[in-house]
Amino acid sequence: MVDIAANCRMLFERIGRAAARSGRDAGAVRLLAASKSQSAEKIRAAAAAGVRLFGENYVQEAASKKATIAGAFEWHLIGHLQRNKAKAALDLFDVIESLDSIELARALDKAAGARGRVVRALIEVNLGGEASKSGVTAERLQPLLETVATLRHVKVEGLMAVPPFFEDSEQTRPYFKELRDLRDKLKTTRVANIDLRELSMGMSQDYEVAIEEGATLVRVGTALFGPRET
Ligand SMILES: *Cc1c(COP(=O)(O)O)cnc(C)c1O
Repeated sequence: MVDIAANCRMLFERIGRAAARSGRDAGAVRLLAASKSQSAEKIRAAAAAGVRLFGENYVQEAASKKATIAGAFEWHLIGHLQRNKAKAALDLFDVIESLDSIELARALDKAAGARGRVVRALIEVNLGGEASKSGVTAERLQPLLETVATLRHVKVEGLMAVPPFFEDSEQTRPYFKELRDLRDKLKTTRVANIDLRELSMGMSQDYEVAIEEGATLVRVGTALFGPRET
């Protein structure tokens, strides 16, 4: 059995050190447990060890697991969302990290409006231009942001990315830097006054490098829970 409490301590410690290397305090970086394919039991163990944020990739899987987990946690959708599941996603998640099209933004806006709420979201950027991955291209980011800014029930809080995978995390560094640069550039142009404070980047393999480059949210799965169960 994986020692989730020990993994958690190790992660919090390394996150703190990486934050210090980037001149920030540990509190500036939040650990999000990427719990896809992990049991509710493991999620409860992570919660007991101090994790407060959980990320799931699929609406269906999140629905069945969340029902068995009590407590005031924040749930993020980190997998691709289809427009026809916008309503279901709203009822399950506090933050949609995978907003990547205006059609999806409009569907979320409509569903959130009908529920009298505002949905928090991050825009997912496809940095490597990989056809297999979702996310807007860097070129289409600003136009998307400008349109989303006109929607009353969607609040964009930052950017998210899943860069190409490399064994050597130093090779991922330029992608993290690129996401931060994109964010900083948008900040200076002050697109519709959107405050892009969150940068969700870095996974088990490379979260420390991501933090050095400015991550405020790291999405860690296997380094916390062990290998995925399915
Ligand atoms: C699975 C997943 C993660 C976590 O991956 P690990 O390598 O297990 O840490 C992070 N982000 C997204 C979007 C994922 O799908």
